[in-house]
Amino acid sequence: MQIPTSSPEETESVAARLAPVLRAGDVVTVSGELGAGKTTFVRGACRALGVTTPVTSPTFTIGHRYGHVSHLDLYRFAGLSDAEWGDLEPYFDDAIAFVEWPEAGEAALPTPRVRVRLRHIDESQRMIELEASDPALLEELA
Ligand code: ADP
Ligand code: MG
Repeated sequence: MQIPTSSPEETESVAARLAPVLRAGDVVTVSGELGAGKTTFVRGACRALGVTTPVTSPTFTIGHRYGHVSHLDLYRFAGLSDAEWGDLEPYFDDAIAFVEWPEAGEAALPTPRVRVRLRHIDESQRMIELEASDPALLEELA
């Protein structure tokens, strides 16, 4: 499914519509180049899931945990060793986990329930592509 947006608020709102179908244990990968809107998307989902603290990019830490929601950024990784996975695993335990730059961890991560890809169209427009392991999951978003 592809959804175009023309502002950060619209991207947050698409994420907020996805949020209610997510459950603890779900992994949502969020891909796209720098500035594509990955953190903006995760922020919208976190807000809808009741996170009230600021949601910022965890680029310089492994991740943030907000109660039953986790936000990871694997930008600095090139593959995941067992030890690195050991550090990450608690973020996935009993949480909905959003993972930016998932490519490095794909072999080690639990299978994502939803894959999100964001692409620049221009300065303010993005194309959001959503793919779910269970296609029925996205029906309500159409
Ligand atoms: P990433 O995490 O992919 O590096 P961010 O979400 O941190 O990206 O930043 C996206 C930037 O693009 C923000 O400055 C945001 O305001 C801007 N932006 C402009 N239009 C959009 C849009 N339609 N959706 C998401 N972000 C947008
Ligand atoms: Mg980011």
